[in-house]
Amino acid sequence: MNDLLTDVCARIARYADTLDTRPVAPGPDAVAALARFDEPMPQHPADPGAVLRLLDEAGSQATVATAGGRYFGFVTGGTLPAALAANLLAAVWDQNGAYQVMSPVAATLEEVSANWLRELLGLPTQAGAGFTTGATMANLTALAAARHALLRRTGWDVEEDGLFGAPPIRVVVGDEVHASVLKALSLLGMGRARVERVPADSQGRMRADALPELSPSTIVCIQAGNVNTGAFDPAAEICAAAHDAGAWVHVDAAFGLWAAASPQLSDLTAGLGEADSWATDAHKWLNVPYDSGIAFVRNADDLRAAMTVGAAYLIAGADREPCHFTPDMSRRARGVEVWAALRSLGRSGVADLVDRCCRHTRRFADGLRSAGYDVLNDVVLNQALVSFGDDDTTRRVIERVQADGTCWFGGTVWQGRAAMRISVSSWATTDDDVERSLAALLRIAGTA
Ligand SMILES: *Cc1c(COP(=O)(O)O)cnc(C)c1O
Repeated sequence: MNDLLTDVCARIARYADTLDTRPVAPGPDAVAALARFDEPMPQHPADPGAVLRLLDEAGSQATVATAGGRYFGFVTGGTLPAALAANLLAAVWDQNGAYQVMSPVAATLEEVSANWLRELLGLPTQAGAGFTTGATMANLTALAAARHALLRRTGWDVEEDGLFGAPPIRVVVGDEVHASVLKALSLLGMGRARVERVPADSQGRMRADALPELSPSTIVCIQAGNVNTGAFDPAAEICAAAHDAGAWVHVDAAFGLWAAASPQLSDLTAGLGEADSWATDAHKWLNVPYDSGIAFVRNADDLRAAMTVGAAYLIAGADREPCHFTPDMSRRARGVEVWAALRSLGRSGVADLVDRCCRHTRRFADGLRSAGYDVLNDVVLNQALVSFGDDDTTRRVIERVQADGTCWFGGTVWQGRAAMRISVSSWATTDDDVERSLAALLRIAGTA
């Protein structure tokens, strides 16, 4: 075991060293070499050292360098050094984070992290928190709590009796709702298509003046951080209108919620704390390893009622039992890395991380704009959208940039126009990474 762990540590360090020089996306040869894994199920045991060697030799080169500083696709964080180290130690611990009795340390670090996060992100101190795999499951978890609360008010117990014959729940979303919210609604029996859509403005923000009439049986899903533009729905206005009507407000804040940690940006998050539930990711802007998200629910009892589980052999203690707040039972001790990230950054470190990513994004936007390309959104956060001309040209530039390997950007269609998405979400991105990437973009776009 000792030799194996020494070997893996050496390989980890070597891999980390390649991040600055290797192509960001693996080339066709590296992907083709994955054929080495395509072998029949082995008949007999193999030496663990040989297994590790094969994994490193065939696997490492076919990774996408999302841990490096020049990956700007989707909304992708890297892994902070403290979070990575904590993740490795926790792997050796192999803790099951379901119950206090299964891992006192996992349960404690979840609770400490939840306390710190509520404070850092401007959420109510009493809010319940559930640690999930990501924002999709955090949306599901929070919306299950909303479903519970709205139906309980009508005397219906949805956990016991399900949705068959239950009083209807209305769900209102913005036209720019993230697909993961619709997926969560579908899993919860509330349907993707029966939502009422509210028109969005030019930045993708839900128009508060276009809200339908709300009622105590309505869940309004707003977002903090549009996945394309980074824009925030007007939370203060929507929460006020919803609460006047007795409705529930859920916020998909997968990455936008982290703006609350930055004094420079916290205006964007005004009113978010008034909502009833929130979903966020830790593997995006907090830069912890996959997978990691968190659901918060103002009234912790609603979350617990929606997620709790019981059986004779599962004897819960008097303290917070982690699995009473998430869909999972046995699960990885995700709170360990969240704690390590927050403990290593502190308040100022989180603010600095968020501000730095936004500054890098503005630099990309300014550099591309001054070269004559169109920036399609107001760059308010860490997201920018660029057009390099007509749609075919923009798509061609994106394809060539991805093949070039200096950096990686994805594409989208924004209000009918093809665009390249810029998302700076990693602690590892330096000024030099941005300049190298910008130079590559200009070089490639100049000949497309
Ligand atoms: C990324 C994202 C999600 C989904 O998060 P996962 O961690 O991929 O499950 C939901 N909403 C928004 C706005 C996002 O950016």
